[in-house]
Amino acid sequence: MGLHMRRSLLALVVSQLVWFGAPGFAQDAAPAVGGVAPSATDKPLSEFPYTPGLDVSAMDTTANPCNDFYQYSCGGWIKNNPIPADQARWSVYGKLYQDNQRFLWGILDNLSKKTSGNSANQQKIGDYFAACMDEDAVDKRGAQPLQPLLAAIDGMQSKADLAAVLAQIHLTTGDAGTFFGFSADQDFSNSDQVIAFAMGGGLGLPERDYYTKQDAKSKELRQQYLDHVQRMFELLGEAPALAQSHAKLVLRIETTLAQSTLSVVDKRDPYKMFHKMPVAKLQALTPGFDWGTYLKASALSNDSAINVTEPKFYQALARLWASAKLDDIKTYMRWHVVHAQAGALSKAYVQENFNFFGKTLRGTPQLQPRWKRCVALVDAQLGEALGQEFVDRAFGPELKKRTLVMTEQIEQAMHDELQQLDWMSPATKRKAEEKLKAIVNKIGYPDTWRDYSSVAIARDDFYGNAQRATRFEVRRTLNKIGKPLDRGEWGMTPPTVNAYYSAQMNDINFPAGVLQPPLFDPKMDDAPGYGNTGGTIGHELVHGFDDEGRQFDAKGNLKNWWTPQDNSKFQQRAQCIVNQYAKYVVVDNIKINSKLTLGEDMADLGGMVLAWTAWKVQSAVVKPESRDGFTPEQRFFIGFAQWACENNRPEDLRVQAATDPHSPGKYRVNGVVVNLPEFGKAFACKPDAAMVSAKPCRVW
Ligand SMILES: [Zn+2]
Repeated sequence: MGLHMRRSLLALVVSQLVWFGAPGFAQDAAPAVGGVAPSATDKPLSEFPYTPGLDVSAMDTTANPCNDFYQYSCGGWIKNNPIPADQARWSVYGKLYQDNQRFLWGILDNLSKKTSGNSANQQKIGDYFAACMDEDAVDKRGAQPLQPLLAAIDGMQSKADLAAVLAQIHLTTGDAGTFFGFSADQDFSNSDQVIAFAMGGGLGLPERDYYTKQDAKSKELRQQYLDHVQRMFELLGEAPALAQSHAKLVLRIETTLAQSTLSVVDKRDPYKMFHKMPVAKLQALTPGFDWGTYLKASALSNDSAINVTEPKFYQALARLWASAKLDDIKTYMRWHVVHAQAGALSKAYVQENFNFFGKTLRGTPQLQPRWKRCVALVDAQLGEALGQEFVDRAFGPELKKRTLVMTEQIEQAMHDELQQLDWMSPATKRKAEEKLKAIVNKIGYPDTWRDYSSVAIARDDFYGNAQRATRFEVRRTLNKIGKPLDRGEWGMTPPTVNAYYSAQMNDINFPAGVLQPPLFDPKMDDAPGYGNTGGTIGHELVHGFDDEGRQFDAKGNLKNWWTPQDNSKFQQRAQCIVNQYAKYVVVDNIKINSKLTLGEDMADLGGMVLAWTAWKVQSAVVKPESRDGFTPEQRFFIGFAQWACENNRPEDLRVQAATDPHSPGKYRVNGVVVNLPEFGKAFACKPDAAMVSAKPCRVW
């Protein structure tokens, strides 16, 4: 789970595609069927448990705040909250998400048992949940639901059949793992229009470097991956020797694709990810692959423009298709189909999938209980129907109003900040101001709910439900191509414990799920609330002006609005943050890839600057008081730090270091406060203290 996630350029597309087989959080939550007995305390919730927004018992007051503020604020939490066996990591966010899940479980459990009075949507999510929970029925079908796709692959007579079969796989699985990803998103150069996106993909491991790094750990992991792929082929009925050779073949093909894939840092550069071209040009890049057939099978015309995010990747793909044997292509496709759908199949597939992606890759000892996986699936597939139920019960108009007031205060703080900024020229300031004014605030849930009336859900057909919901989502996305943009759309569901900024929509989005205690606690005094939720709002807002977001204008178009001088001054300030975070260790001897985390680190710092200013304004309205032995200023910072308390497994930290644009929680706290003189003052830190920087970084 990317906490305080900025919507990366393609995240919306990818999150719609990913629900079963992809790495990351979706993998951990994938619907596997395991032998985990529900514990006695594992019960649905009818009400949220209350956790205060500032929790003194979560602190370690024996630590010196000026020496390690994270330990001081979170030491108690770290001690009292060991990582549950079914989690890769554990955090304040993760815990709240689990509470949300339990609450949603209660809703779904009731709806699935209710025999009359359900609305059409309530009936759908109740039936989906019931079908998903029916393990016996799922187990009885084994891998039989895969047969139509496997038969289509098997039936390919020549490479000329590839395009049609690939389109069928992409429509059915919604997965970018089979050779490439294909979806729709806003045109970088005209944000009002939606165009097709042909993207990289084709990998089973989380990121390209997993295929090329030569250290001992990486080599060991590749061997474990080979073993896993082999076992999946064996489950499909292949003899061990054949399955082993097939696994090697898969790794060879994926390695070839990885070598032509952009790095995670390069993928943050929108210019490197934007190559709009007519279909004919994409066709010229990939001779031998029939795009006309692929587009037709996807119900798309071939006269619209396509953003080919990574042209070199497509050239490599074309070379691969030309040189590989048809049988090898089929083998690779079989692997990706079973990989993408493993979570929806019987126990053996689910467990094997978890053993590698959960246990080996992330260090999680135990598969999540089935109810969690089913709740996560309803949220992933019918999220706005479930979200409606969540909002009705957990997010009133009063909460929405309070969040909006705080958001407007933060935006006012950004306006004031811009006015007095000493390094930016008036010309660039005017453009920044224009962008700030254009930002749309989305709070809690969408104004218009998604219409699921065309998705058929049957109470006795889990796999069919999952497939129909995927097809609905893939088609809904592709249907946007060539049409004007719906600016009301959300990229996260209402129960999500996260928030995002979209550079192309130029909006900030705070789902109802993240506006709950302890993150947003209306019972608490203002100080910790502004430190925590104020900081989150500021964080998302600053994403509009971080190294990536600043390249888009007020309308969400990729367009340079900076004077050359201001541009280089921005770069200098950004470099200060890059240098600072590059020194922090994630795990073992792996340091933060601070070019990857720059946008998040910048948003963390800028967000706190804005939250502080907004809180000072609010303090003139409601006079702050000392509580629990802490001054209001101290409470502001403790409230801020306590969103980030977490425990991590070393395996998961290694994945994070390679793929996550966020720094670990410790540095998201300590890395920020060292740059804020207000912090040192609040805790009377000496100038040479660890939490006081002699030359603080500051962009916004
Ligand atoms: Zn962020």
